[in-house]
This record gives sequence, structure tokens and C-alpha cells, in this order.
Amino acid sequence: MINLKNIHKSYYTEATSLHVLKGIDLTIEAGEYVSIMGASGSGKSTLLNILGILDSYDEGSYLLNGKLIKDLSEKQAALYRNEMIGFVFQSFNLINYKNAMENVALPLYYKNINRKKRNAIALEYLDMMGLKDWATHYPNEMSGGQKQRVAIARAIISQPQVLLADEPTGALDSKTSAEVMNVLKELNQTGITTIIVTHEQSVADSTDRIIRIKDGMIE
Ligand code: ADP
Ligand code: MG
Repeated sequence: MINLKNIHKSYYTEATSLHVLKGIDLTIEAGEYVSIMGASGSGKSTLLNILGILDSYDEGSYLLNGKLIKDLSEKQAALYRNEMIGFVFQSFNLINYKNAMENVALPLYYKNINRKKRNAIALEYLDMMGLKDWATHYPNEMSGGQKQRVAIARAIISQPQVLLADEPTGALDSKTSAEVMNVLKELNQTGITTIIVTHEQSVADSTDRIIRIKDGMIE
């Protein structure tokens, strides 16, 4: 599903450059449930953003489902991203002036699905997350765990093949973290390839494989 060969990535500022990824080789099979661990600043988010076609890389190759992800136009990148990938973030990234149902439905708006239909589908996904009764509530009325489940529903409503989560439990207490990890595990068991960046050992231990990144390379 995912094949990285010799991926390099640097960030350039006016005076300096920072070589963050220094030759990443990584293969992740379809349906895998893996975590990526590493010290703060080791390049976990950089790697995840490349996997999610949110950012480009300088050298090497990235094959997603056999397709070379390189030098894509913004439009092409967005197309593959919307078709293939769902994202979950530490800080949920919900839209505060939209209720839970509207947040979940948003990806379908970009697929030109009419409001009635997308809200009906969003309700199904909220129901799946145990949040049907929260459909008309706004993010500021919800707990962290509830917000993350709304964000997960939004991430999967387009039925992506790959789910990427960047510290999805980073803002949650340990009990809520475990609940969110259970949700992710259940989703993985429906076949979605799942990659979770974390610095929490307990979170990593709940995945099937731990990938460690150190000094810009996979250990
Ligand atoms: P992690 O997620 O493992 O904490 P990141 O991938 O966010 O690490 O960052 C790796 C390094 O790259 C850090 O030193 C960070 O400060 C730097 N960095 C990340 N994003 C940028 C950027 N857009 N511009 C410049 N430096 C960046
Ligand atoms: Mg990070």
C-alpha cells in the first residue's frame, strides 16, 4: 500500500536549512495497523504529512497503491488525498461554527453531494461513533474524546483506504485515549490501513507494529 525509498526532506529558512528526513525506507502493507514513534522534533509529523500528500519531499520515491506520488500539481495532490486518505489530528481541527454533523459531512461537500444526502450520511457515521445524540452540538459543547470521535467520523466518511493520525490521543486523558484507540482498532479491522504517530508507549503498544524514527532514519 505504502512504499518509501530513500526519502529525504529538508526545511529551508532564510539563513539555514534543516535536514529532517535522511533516507527513509519504509513499506506498509494494506490493512496494517502501525505506529510511528520518535523523540519530539524527530520528523514524525513531517513523515506523516508526506504520506498524506500534504507536503512534498526532496529525494527518493513514494509509491501509494503503486502510484508514484511525486511532483504532483496541487489539484492532483488534492484529488489523491481526498480519494485515498483520511486525517486525524491531536487538536481535532473541527470547525467551531459548524455542529458535529456538519463537521463530519464537510468532505462530502467537496464531492458535490447535496446537503440533505451528506447530512444523512454524516448521521450514520456519528451513530457508528456512538454520537448520534450529539449531531446538533457544537465542538465547544463536547469533551475531548467526543471531539476526536467526530474528527474520526469526518476522516472516514469518504471511505479512504489509509487513515493517518498525528498524536490522536495527545490531548486526551488515559481513559479517553484508550477509548479512541479502540475506535481506531475497530476501524482498522474493517480493512483501513492505519498509521498512528505517537510518543506514548501505551498507544504504540496497542498497534501491531512500531516503527521508530531516529536521526532522520527508521531504526
Ligand atoms: P515531530 O512531529 O517528530 O515532533 P516534526 O516533523 O514536526 O517533528 O519536525 C521535525 C523538525 O523540523 C523540527 O526540528 C521542526 O522544528 C522542524 N520543522 C517542522 N516543520 C517545519 C517547517 N514548516 N519549517 C521549518 N522547520 C520545520
Ligand atoms: Mg509532530
